[in-house]
Amino acid sequence: MRYSQNKEETVVLVRQVLTALGQHDAAFNPLSFAVFYEHAAGINPRLSAALDEQMHSTPRLDDAAVQRLHQDFVADVGLAEAERIQGDMQRVMTDIVQSARRTGKQAGDFGEQLQGLSGVLVDVEVQRLSPHLDAALASTQAMRQSVQALQDQVSASQREIEALRADLMRTREESLLCPLTRVLNRRGFDERLHAMLAQPPARGTQHCLIMLDIDHFKRVNDTHGHPVGDKVLEGLGAVLRSVPPEPGMACARYGGEEFAILLPSTTLNKAVQLAEAVRTRTRGVRLRNKSTNAVELTVTVSAGVAAWRPGEDARALVSCADAALYRSKANGRDRVMVA
Ligand code: GH3
Ligand code: MG
Ligand code: MG
Repeated sequence: MRYSQNKEETVVLVRQVLTALGQHDAAFNPLSFAVFYEHAAGINPRLSAALDEQMHSTPRLDDAAVQRLHQDFVADVGLAEAERIQGDMQRVMTDIVQSARRTGKQAGDFGEQLQGLSGVLVDVEVQRLSPHLDAALASTQAMRQSVQALQDQVSASQREIEALRADLMRTREESLLCPLTRVLNRRGFDERLHAMLAQPPARGTQHCLIMLDIDHFKRVNDTHGHPVGDKVLEGLGAVLRSVPPEPGMACARYGGEEFAILLPSTTLNKAVQLAEAVRTRTRGVRLRNKSTNAVELTVTVSAGVAAWRPGEDARALVSCADAALYRSKANGRDRVMVA
């Protein structure tokens, strides 16, 4: 596990991170936080070495420098780990708020006791105690105020951390999406594929994979230009997002003009049906000329469907679906074949 610090260690680390961030020009955001957290925790030696070297020449790091460090040394943080560390931080802040509240209440109670006591101390002998009591009362009140201020400050930090957490999750999700097609990118696909294979399929079902490849796509680029090719890719992304999703289904751009659909705990029949739905919907997509509205282009896809066999690794499953896809191409394209 990437983040193995316990709560007490996290409190110290969070403080160190905040102090370190204050010494740079980079904004305080999820990226900069992750960079300085991993450095402070000493869990990412390559990052620390790069950070130290960078600070040697540029003592105050700006947004671009921190972003580069994040991209090069932190970006592959696992989703579950990111969630866990953010959850830990949230819990730490909640604990601090609670202890600040408790301290505040105790200070308040003590202050009231003192007030009550000074009210009954009317005896001349004890009058001499009065200045001490007054001083104690005043410092209790001061303590109450500072505890209140601390409480407010901690509550504000807690809200800020919650917002940062949401930002970080969004950043993570974005980093797993292909911006053009709005389906998972290759990294997102790999994560989901490994997650799927880590769980056995439900009884009577199989984990399935569909690989899809646009037919004669090179011709589209050659005839209409790369930007139109991109529009076609965008269109296929929209098709994938439009098919009724099965539970746990994940669509991805595997690379270039190749796409993939993961279907955990399904049947081969359902997987074939889904591949057929994508194939027919793709045939139905019409790319029109913006000014004349005339249909400029239609495309087709070929697909290969494979069911995972227990014991088989991820690569073998992809190869199986790829082999079926290859047969679809060899048999005339615009079709679905099963491995
Ligand atoms: P086949 O039916 O056998 O799949 O033929 P094909 O032309 O689709 O396959 P080929 O592998 O020969 O060509 C794929 C083309 O996809 C070549 C490459 O330039 C294009 N391509 C890959 N990524 C992108 C992209 O992001 N945008 C655009 N416009 N084209 C891309
Ligand atoms: Mg192709
Ligand atoms: Mg291809």
